[in-house]
This record gives sequence, structure tokens and C-alpha cells, in this order.
Amino acid sequence: MEIWATRIKEDLSGLFRGKLDVSRVASIVYSQDGGVTREAPCGVALPEDAEDLVVLVQYCHEHSIPMTVRGAGTSLFGQSLGPGLIIDVSASMNRVLSMSERTVRVEPGITIDELNRRLRPYGREFGVYPLDSAVATVGGVVGVDGIGPHGLRHGAAHDHVASLQVMLARGTQFTAGLEPLAMPDRQAPENQPHQVKRTIICRLESILRNEAALIKASQPGVTLLRRGGYQLRGVLTEERLDLCRLLVGSEGTLGLYTGITLHTTPLPAHRGVLLLLCPTLDSAIEVVHQVRVMEPAACDLVDRRILTLARELDDRFLMIIPPTIEAAVLIEVTAETESECREQLTSLRRCTARIAEGHLTAYEANSPSDVEFLWSLSRKILPQLEKPRGGMRTVRIFDDLVVPPEALAEFLAKAHKAFQMADISAVMYSHAAMGVVHFRPLLTDRAAWPVAALEQLQYALYEAAWSLGGCIGSTQGLGSLRTSALREQYGSLCDIFKEVKNIFDPEGLLAPGHVVPAAARVGWGTAFPSASQQARAVEPIHFSGRELKSTFEQELPVQAPTGELVELCHSWPQGEAIEAVNACNGCGNCRREDRSHRMCPFFHVTHQEVSSPRAKAVVFRDTLSGRLAPETLTRPEMLPILNSCFNCQQCSLECPSHVDIPRMAIELKGQAAAQQGVSRVDWLLSRPDVWGPWGSWLAPVLNPLLNWSTFRRVLELLTGVARERRLPLFSRKSFLQQTAQQAVEVPQSASEPVAGQKKPLQPVVYFVDHFANYHDTELAMAFSRVLEHLGFELIVPKGQLASGMALISAGELPAARELALENLRVLAPHARDGLRIICTEPTAALCLKKEYPRLTQHPDAELVAQQTVEAGAFLAELAAQGRLPIPTEPLAMTPLRAVYHTPCHLKSLGERQPLLEICRLIPKLELHAVERGCSGMAGTFGLSSKNFQTSMKIGHELMETMRSRDWDFGVTECSGCRLQMTQRTATPTLHPIKLMAMAYGLMPELKARFKHQTRKYTLE
Ligand code: SF4
Ligand code: SF4
Repeated sequence: MEIWATRIKEDLSGLFRGKLDVSRVASIVYSQDGGVTREAPCGVALPEDAEDLVVLVQYCHEHSIPMTVRGAGTSLFGQSLGPGLIIDVSASMNRVLSMSERTVRVEPGITIDELNRRLRPYGREFGVYPLDSAVATVGGVVGVDGIGPHGLRHGAAHDHVASLQVMLARGTQFTAGLEPLAMPDRQAPENQPHQVKRTIICRLESILRNEAALIKASQPGVTLLRRGGYQLRGVLTEERLDLCRLLVGSEGTLGLYTGITLHTTPLPAHRGVLLLLCPTLDSAIEVVHQVRVMEPAACDLVDRRILTLARELDDRFLMIIPPTIEAAVLIEVTAETESECREQLTSLRRCTARIAEGHLTAYEANSPSDVEFLWSLSRKILPQLEKPRGGMRTVRIFDDLVVPPEALAEFLAKAHKAFQMADISAVMYSHAAMGVVHFRPLLTDRAAWPVAALEQLQYALYEAAWSLGGCIGSTQGLGSLRTSALREQYGSLCDIFKEVKNIFDPEGLLAPGHVVPAAARVGWGTAFPSASQQARAVEPIHFSGRELKSTFEQELPVQAPTGELVELCHSWPQGEAIEAVNACNGCGNCRREDRSHRMCPFFHVTHQEVSSPRAKAVVFRDTLSGRLAPETLTRPEMLPILNSCFNCQQCSLECPSHVDIPRMAIELKGQAAAQQGVSRVDWLLSRPDVWGPWGSWLAPVLNPLLNWSTFRRVLELLTGVARERRLPLFSRKSFLQQTAQQAVEVPQSASEPVAGQKKPLQPVVYFVDHFANYHDTELAMAFSRVLEHLGFELIVPKGQLASGMALISAGELPAARELALENLRVLAPHARDGLRIICTEPTAALCLKKEYPRLTQHPDAELVAQQTVEAGAFLAELAAQGRLPIPTEPLAMTPLRAVYHTPCHLKSLGERQPLLEICRLIPKLELHAVERGCSGMAGTFGLSSKNFQTSMKIGHELMETMRSRDWDFGVTECSGCRLQMTQRTATPTLHPIKLMAMAYGLMPELKARFKHQTRKYTLE
């Protein structure tokens, strides 16, 4: 560690309670936000609360260390990036501090969706919903004075902020609101917060009075949207100064928010949405003009490309949007009653009916689900355009251009011309009634970007907006990237901005270079060279005689690797690894915390950037590029990144760009394991084929011991397996041993014989995997009986091993490859014969289908993958062919209520809960699916003592849901989830195949043990 890093750590040790990380890894992780540039800070601090922040800020001030505050890191123009320290308030400073009938006081790091989730029970909301409200923080939105699609109804952030608790760069804190114009008290000490505030007000008053004419000319009118930079117009009245209004939108350059008091608004009783499909863009703009005067809650415009993708991705849009449509307008109205809502939608239809000579098509949504469906055009379909398609994808570099709404048509015409001249295509999305336009150009790989053309295009778009009285930086701020363009927009008002900055932050330590160009840094700040200082020289680009600051060339300098060049452990075909990292655009969607999404279980419990999938992509990219030396992967600071992935694969499923983060995490772990091996416990737990046979052999002695707490303590000391974990018992004979010695007996079924059972039996192969082989042999037995009952001959090939997913997840890739090749050797002959290979464990199916081909690159791997099918999917195929008889036997005399959890790996396989649907046919069984995230077990992850608590935290919501209702038992296909659910809920959790076997009358011995005791079912 560098000397300065050690010193910061030592100096703040015992004083700063939060997390302070000044490692190269932290610098890399925080060098990216949602935009296209990068800037590496010297470290990152995660303060616990405002008190903690004071300690940090005073220290940084004392040593001239620049500070940049960061929320979710989703900003597009470098607002979250900076030299010196990044202060991440999203991890801990995310509490609701107090709530009253009409206001709420929060810390800046809370997300907007989370705040609204807390307000909803009181019938209130914070009405600024940007499109990324699931991850965007309140501090971030107030910092740029954000506005969402509903700005027409709710206004911008400044309309909601009642007051701000602010901390200045020297650590002084005060509340900023609408302040009286009183002089400082000459008697009071100068550094007293009240006195500091009075001095600031006094100096501001003087500037604002002296420069009133310039301000009035540069910031005409007090409008719905501000014009970027500091809002100076309307801040000063005869008697008061609106300090809060000035600080909203100041992008963390004047002070840091430590508490934000917001006015809340009543939730709308009814919402209705009208989707108007227009034959031309001009007719869509005409619709916007007609609708605007009727004051709807929202009025957005989407272009043809978004509509085309919507048709491709969602059949419901395919049904309603004809391919000839060029644009659509999405209009929302709100009302107290449903009939009022419908009336408003009808008058909107009427008023737009004459446009485009009756060629408008309208779709109305009145129910909450239909309203959400229509809004998915912007919230779900638009982000999907960022996924590379045919080598092209949209890039968010021309967002947030604002023009007067009446000038929209003219602006779009000018912009169209500029795009044509640059020979670049783009997608356009607009909050049209407010004049906010986002262009997303379609570009190829980053390395092939036409940088000069993009620079010219950017300024052509700015010019077009300015020429029509528009602006930049109105709703998403300026950050470091657009600050240089501000002088073009404001001229000498920028000098006033500088004076204002000087009043609050004379040393220029807060977000240097944002809003106001940075002065040379002093003190320790100079020891922390920023990326822009180090950026490789770029030929200056000129436009209209002006030298332009390059927005697209700021990159971290490529640092020569200090170790061996990275040789990838996973098998990545040529260029695939680079393609994978380039697919991540830093949008931050993987920081979502709502449980309707599973990604990412680790981020859900830590709230820390290092645990996010995005962090893995950043680290992987820098490892590939050589910026991060391979040996860094074995350093302690890398552990929070490597240990926060258990390969659930939900991020690659739910990320809008479907970035293959799990594979990157495996590669990183593989690199680390190749250099220093894995821990004893990871080695042991990832090799069930080593301890499985021993466990079975010792089962008569071992099983009673596993229930004995003293033995579990000893086991923990020897192996690292958590003493608190209820371990599965071993079968005295593994299923493979049982099948080797005797044919699996199928008892006479209580059900009717299956039609066609007399025909020759159709052979299928069973890949048993570890858990059903050594622990739950009853499941393997149930499966074999069900299949034979259905007319199949079950082949259980000898010599098959565990799938090896535990090895892959631990990064032990050579061992995993060896095991995979052995399984391929056993399974490939059957696959060549055209036999299906069925897995009752979803993880095993995923491993055979997805992991083996890319891990081994063996020609048989693809063949085996093609023939492999998860058991539920196989039975669903039979059901579709009419070959699956309905299970007729109830599981008990009384009706039962059970809860079903979908395993993560089943989701990754793309299977839609087939066994849930089949088991719902069982008489007297009410089976409810719950979606409360991951169980937290993840194969063997939750077995070890180092992971036990994390595993419990991750599974907490699911377990609470299971416990909160009077469920008789749980159901899931995954063996790890079953262990966790059984341990935490005191009810048995069964594989659905067992339910089917019982309902077909094939497992009388299991049914006999499945008993009702006191309130719950038990499995003796
Ligand atoms: S992994 Fe996906 S969701 Fe996360 S930042 Fe990258 S693109 Fe966005
Ligand atoms: S695979 Fe799962 S645990 Fe790993 S980063 Fe993705 S969502 Fe998180």
C-alpha cells in the first residue's frame, strides 16, 4: 500500500467508524459510473452517518483531499467520479430519519423506490420518479434537481425539498431553507454553524443583488425546469434568501447533504394511461401540443425503434402496435375516481381525434397492471436497447437536452439533420410535454467509436438546443463532462458560479471540476493524480473554431501489468471475454433492491458497490486490460468482490444487457485459485465426491453424531462447516450403489395403469448428482418410480460423478474440468444414442447444459448439453403430448397448503416452474408460489461457518414469508434451498417429484411418514 494510503488509514483509525478503502481495487471499482468516462479516485469512504461524515470531511479538509459524493453511481456525465476520496452514502446513510403527515426526512442514500415503499402505507409518495428510480438515490436526484416522466404533475426535485441539512467542505453543518436576510452576529465565534450560514447568506445576497441583471438575462423566468449550473434566479427576494433552492441541483459541489426533508404528496387514487400510436413523428408532436394544454400527469414520446423492440420482446405489444407506426405518445392522467379518470382519457382521445386524419390508434389502460404494462415501454423496453444486437447497441451520451416544448418539432428536425451529417443513427425518447429529449446513438464496440464525429455531433445538438432557447444540464446535471460546455450556455454567468462556489468551498475540494472548472489542486490532492490528468494525449478537436474538451477519450491510462499476462482459466473463445466486459454499460441496474428482482443476493444484504455485479465487470475488465495486476486478485481487499458471488446466475438473467457476470466472477476466482489455491473448507465443500462415499460408509455412526452439538463444534474446527447448520443425513447406500445391486422396484400403483404401458419401455438416462445420490436417495427412488410408471426405462449410468458446480463456483476450474470430462465420458455414448439425460437437480441440469460446453470445449459437451433436460421440463413435455396422467391421490385426508420456491438455477434454465403447475393438479393440495428472492444456500455456500450468517441474511425474506403463513410444508426442486427452508421453518420441504410419486401412489412408505403433528406436517 502506498504511504499516503497507509497514513489515511492510520490517521482515521478509531475515529472514522465507516468503511475506508484506499486500495487499488477500490479505486478501480469506483472509477466508473453509468456514463462512458472513467476517473480513478484514490480511495472510497462509506460513512455510517452524519457524525461519521464530519470526521471524514474535516480530515479531508485539513489535508486538502478532494471529495466527491456518490449515491448509486448511475450518473451519465461523471457526477459520481472524481479524484481524492469518493464518499459513498448509499451503503449506510440510507435511513428514513423521521416522518410527519406531509413531510419525510431522509438520509441521502435511500433509493426513491425504497422511500416510496415506506410512504405507501400512509397514502403518500415522493413524486419524482426518474426511469431508474429503483436504484437512484434521493440525494442523487436532489443533487441534479431531477425530474421524472411525471414532472408535469409533480414538478422537479426542488418543488419537493422543504429543507436540507448540509455539510460544508470544512465539516460545518447547518440546515438550509428559506432564510431571513440577517447580518452575521459580530459577537459570535466565526466557525459556529449559525454564524457560518449567516456569512454565506450575506455574501450571496451581495452577489445576487449586484448581478441581478445578468442573472435575469441568463436564467430567464422561474420555470418548471432549471437551466443547468447553479439556480440563481428566484433565490433572492426582498426579505429572504432561498438557500435550499440554490443547493438543490448543485451536484455536491457546494456542500454534502446529510439530511433531506421532503414534502410528500398524496398517492393518486386512480391512474389511467393512453397510448396513442401515430403514423408519423410530426403527428406525434402535434398530439403532444394538443395534450399539453390539458395538463396531464405525464406525456412522453417514444420513437419507432423503441416500438419495434417492444413488438419483438413482448407479444402484447406485438398485438397492439402495427409495424407501420413511427412514434407513440404515452399520456397519463390521475383522478380521484375511476370514472373521472376514464372521462379524462375520453376527452384526450376526442381532442386528438382530428390529428393525422383519423390515423391515430389509441389504447387505454385503467387498471394498475395495464398502466404498468404501457409504462414498460420506457422502464423495461428502453433499457433493453443497451444490449448489443447485431454488434450495435444504444449508448447514453446525449441525454438531457431541453428545449421549450413549443420548439420540439424544430429541435428534432435540427437534431435529425445533425445525426444524418454524422452518419449516426439514434433512438429518441422524450418527456415531450416538458421539452426534455434523450438521444441514444446506436454504436458498435467502444474501440470502433467514431470519436471525432461524436464530439461534433454532441456540440451540434447543444447548439441546436441553445439556438431555440433550450439548455443542457437541466435534469441530469453537468458533472465533469459537460461543465466545459457551460460557458457556451451562460457566458459570464459562469464567473458568478465561480464566486458562489468560492463562498461555500473556497479550497475547491468538493467535486472538483463539476459545474465550475477545477483550480489546481493543492496539498495531498496533488499526490492523487486523477485519470483526466493522466489521460493519454488526445488530438484537440475543433468545432466552429472552438477547441472541444473530449468527452469520449477520457480513459484510465493503461498500466503495464506487474505480473504475468493474464491467461484465462475458463475457456473463452477469441474475443468473447472482451465482448462480455464491453456489454456492461455501468447502468447500475444490478443494484436494485426490490425483491421482484433476484439480482444480486449479496448486494441486497450489504448495499455495497463491491458486492454488486457491476463491480465484478469493472474488475474483470481491468484485469484483462492489464490495469490490474493479476496478483492483485489474491490480495485481501479483493475478497469482498470475489466472495460476494455464489454463481446464482440471476444477474445475467435480469441485467438489461444480460452481461455474463457469473462467468467473469468464476474467471476471477479461477485466477485467484490458480495463484494461491483455495481455503481448506472451500476445497472440501466443493468435492462432495470425496466425502460422499465416506459419509455413506460411516452413516450408521455419523448420522447420530451430526445431530450432536459437541460433534458439530469439532467438525467446525476440523472442516470449517458451520456448527449451526443442520446437516443432511447420509444414506447408508448411495443411490448408484443401490441401482448397481438391484433393479429399482416399482410397486403396484394405486393409480390406473398408464395407457400404452405395454409398449416397449422407452429408455432415458438419469444424472443423479450428489445430493440425491448420497443424501436424498428417496428422491432418486421417487423419480425412477414415476418414470417407470410413465413407461420409461431409467438408465442410471455407473461411474457418473457430482455435476461439479461447487468446483466451478469456487473457481477450481482444472478440477471441475477433469470431473466434467469424466461425466462426459459416461454420458456421451447415451447422448449419441439420442437418449434424453434427465436431472432432478436444476443445478446439475444447468451445469451440463451451460457450464460443460464452455468449460471443456469438448465436442461431446454440446451433444450432452442438447440431450440434457431438467426433470420438470421433461414432464412438462410429456404433459404437452398428453402423456402425463393427472395425479389422483391426495397426499392426506385433509386439504393441505404448501409454499413453492423457484430455485435460481431453474430460472436460469428458462424453465417456467413446470413441476409447480403439475403438482397443482394433486387433489386437496393448495400450492402457492412465493417470490422473495434467493434462499441464500447456493449449493455448499451456506454450509461453511464463514458464510453461514450471510446465507441466513440472504434467505431471510423467503424464510420469513414461509414462516408468516400457516403453510403445511414447503416445496422446491433445489436440494440446497430445501436444506435452508427446512432448517429455518421447522416444516419439511420436499422435491415436487416426491409429491407426484405420492400422488401416483408410488411411494406408500414416504406417504406413511408424512404426518400431521400438532400444527405442522412433519417427515419422520
Ligand atoms: S451488469 Fe448489467 S445491470 Fe449491472 S451495470 Fe452492467 S449492464 Fe448494468
Ligand atoms: S451470479 Fe448471483 S451472486 Fe453472483 S453477482 Fe450475479 S446475482 Fe450476484
